[in-house]
Amino acid sequence: MKNLLYFYLSASLVVGLWACQAKKNKTEVSDEIKDIKLIDYDCRNCGMPSKEYPKWHTIVTTERDEEIHFCSPRCMFISFLDEKKKPDWVKEVSVVEYYEGKRIDGKKAWYVVNSDVIGPMGHDFVPFKTADAAKDFLKEHKGKKILHFEEVTLKELKEVINTNK
Ligand SMILES: [Zn+2]
Repeated sequence: MKNLLYFYLSASLVVGLWACQAKKNKTEVSDEIKDIKLIDYDCRNCGMPSKEYPKWHTIVTTERDEEIHFCSPRCMFISFLDEKKKPDWVKEVSVVEYYEGKRIDGKKAWYVVNSDVIGPMGHDFVPFKTADAAKDFLKEHKGKKILHFEEVTLKELKEVINTNK
């Protein structure tokens, strides 16, 4: 009986791994991102139904555990830097790391601006977990500079937005 159970567990594990791998090859994004795609939401800032852009999806969680969705870090910063739109009591900011496609802490992330990688609304803030990864991306994609979360001011935001012109 034990052996049979072991067989079933191994078999399902193998099938599970195979399915995982097949998905990865097909979409080139992690399973975590694939799940995010299923969430139906409109960007709090621009109103876009942004489920088509899972790699940019930014989630802000408030102290009351309310989730606020943005189509990208750009829209999140536009909202954060506007006193009228700014969400109160922000507990967590979740962004998707560009290279690994996994969710990371947006407050601790490094953002590359004005690169040749364009977000849902134009030039955006491309998130990275480490400064080294951000440096690699900056070189690879002709980025202009690297900013930590707190360094994104209204002036920096305007520079990014105006690059679209
Ligand atoms: Zn948006």
